[in-house]
Amino acid sequence: MLLLKPNSGVMKISPYLGGQSHIDGLSDVLKLSSNENPVGPSPQVVNAIASAASKVHRYPSRNHTTLRERIAELHGLNPDQVIIGVGSDEILTLLALAYADSGTEVVYPEHGFLLYPTIAHIVGAYPIEAKETERCVDISSILDSITPKTRLVYIANPANPSSTMLEEDVIAQLCDSLPTNCLLVLDGAYAEFVEGFDGGAGFVRKYENVVMTRTFSKIYGLGGLRVGWGYASASVIDVLNRIRGPFNMSNIALAGAEAAILDQVYVKKCRDINSQQRMRLCDGFRQLGIKCDKSYTNFVLARFNNKKTADFVNNFLKSQGIIVRDVKAYKMPEALRITVGTPDDNDRVLNSVKLALETTCQ
Ligand SMILES: *Cc1c(COP(=O)(O)O)cnc(C)c1O
Repeated sequence: MLLLKPNSGVMKISPYLGGQSHIDGLSDVLKLSSNENPVGPSPQVVNAIASAASKVHRYPSRNHTTLRERIAELHGLNPDQVIIGVGSDEILTLLALAYADSGTEVVYPEHGFLLYPTIAHIVGAYPIEAKETERCVDISSILDSITPKTRLVYIANPANPSSTMLEEDVIAQLCDSLPTNCLLVLDGAYAEFVEGFDGGAGFVRKYENVVMTRTFSKIYGLGGLRVGWGYASASVIDVLNRIRGPFNMSNIALAGAEAAILDQVYVKKCRDINSQQRMRLCDGFRQLGIKCDKSYTNFVLARFNNKKTADFVNNFLKSQGIIVRDVKAYKMPEALRITVGTPDDNDRVLNSVKLALETTCQ
């Protein structure tokens, strides 16, 4: 008999269910389930990755200086306070490994990103869910959920899957009220979709217990490359660097992200396409009687009258080769999260959803 047991939280983790990418028997599949960039990566990134390929016999940089400097220059940050990770997932996880050990508590919003409770379980901490109000993060419920055992608070702003966003002054209020032995993590995975938004960098500058995370997976179109970064006080960065694997980033990933930062023309183009198309998708849904909040991201959360209709539409779309994300795991069974695609993609989505609703009404 095997006496070996995993650590206490491990078996509480439900395996991550990513966005589906295949439908049996269909070849023309439109994947709108993982908030990927429908335009693809910048050609400059593809070239940089190709050039880096001939150097993979060398170990990569351990300190990621070039990428940190480019990120810092673009965003007006101190490069010494930037850390690069294997997706922002790695930064989010390192924070818990560093600060939330067994028996402590990790707070996140009710409809928050599923990685947050998973991370809590990895380190043996208790995941604590704070109620939201109308799919918006509720600061007073976050504060009410904090106890002397709380070490970390994760908030995505804008949020996934609700697509809503907190105002700057609300975050400021949270920062002011947060106990100083507790770290606030502002997950800015979708920050670039909000023109002029700093993702929370200003709060990191002002509060030593605030961290911002960012990613190349969304607007930069590099989900498959696995690059994210964090911005924090020098003391937090020092702590994270002690845990981080010295060679966590490959040559290829670094070269791609370094090139991506330099191509801001591409980022602006993607942001513009997304804003236009997001509005079209929302308006189209509303005309069909489907509710959706104003989105600050590259996806729209379509809310139907009930779970049955959402399930029907989801299956109908699948039969048409369109994959979207049901958000039951996020406690919103009546909703579907749909990534904003190209104009053609969105035509296809709107037509199919309309057809689905006509079919259910019969
Ligand atoms: C997509 C996403 C991320 C990004 O994860 P990566 O590991 O950088 O690919 C982080 N947080 C939220 C809320 C997301 O939706």
